[in-house]
Amino acid sequence: MSFISSKEILLDAQQQGYAIPAFNIHNLETIQTVLEAADELNSPVILATTPGTIRHAGAEYLVAITKQAGEKYDIPISLHLDHAEDIDLIKECIDLGYKSVMIDASAESFAENIAKTKEVVDYAKFKEVAVEAELGRLGGREENITVAEEDEQYTDPAKAAEFVAKTGIDSLAVAIGTAHGLYKSEPKLDFQRLEEIREEVAVPLVLHGASGVPEASVNQAIQLGISKVNIATELKIPFSKAVEEYFERHPEANDPRKYLAPGKEAMKKIVKEKIKMCMSDNKGVDNDTNLNLKSSS
Ligand code: 13P
Repeated sequence: MSFISSKEILLDAQQQGYAIPAFNIHNLETIQTVLEAADELNSPVILATTPGTIRHAGAEYLVAITKQAGEKYDIPISLHLDHAEDIDLIKECIDLGYKSVMIDASAESFAENIAKTKEVVDYAKFKEVAVEAELGRLGGREENITVAEEDEQYTDPAKAAEFVAKTGIDSLAVAIGTAHGLYKSEPKLDFQRLEEIREEVAVPLVLHGASGVPEASVNQAIQLGISKVNIATELKIPFSKAVEEYFERHPEANDPRKYLAPGKEAMKKIVKEKIKMCMSDNKGVDNDTNLNLKSSS
């Protein structure tokens, strides 16, 4: 059984200097794609589901599929709720079996962000569920959360320390120059700020908006303390493009099992590239760690 909380794997990544890739999935096919790629490369992996994906696929189904995957594969697999603003939804997901959640109250005031995050931590800790929260505001669009460039706010290192101490979160999403979705020009990450945050904060740090960030920048961010890397857009594009091309070649196609297959294949290639970028390959089973990941459920 390797369906686990994200806490253990993030701490292992932090100790060993790699990052856990968190891939946003949307349905059975994208879950299969991510898990096949992670299994082939022996990588721990996080399946990230936004509230939109939960509305689409159903939290019960997502939990059941991931638990089943935990039986099938030996790699550590965590199911994560990504960018949830609604505390009731977070509690519902925890009750259904999620072992990793993100409360995104980054649009609120500092005090309100602390209060909401703390409420989630208090609820989650009795069920051994890991909690991620965000301080600062990432630009771009992640489903129903849109942050205009002028509203972007980089994470303040001193405030980050206070935020972590007052909330008791397990990981912190930082705003250091990435944005959700596609970039208009190559993003420049504020590595100095990341170093300062790392000095102030002991919990694993999370990089959102990694699609389109050059591999060298992600590597440097990992070296400076990022332990989880979130990727969504860069997977959706090749999947959709490959399906579109399939229909161009086979306009009469009507079998989802056939027309989704090239989408999976195209996405799998990128998932593997991103696993290697995170240096999490060969960190799955028999990882040289003192964690007994397989005993968690
Ligand atoms: P991208 O779509 O930019 O990869 O961002 C993903 C993300 O951060 C999900 O939380």
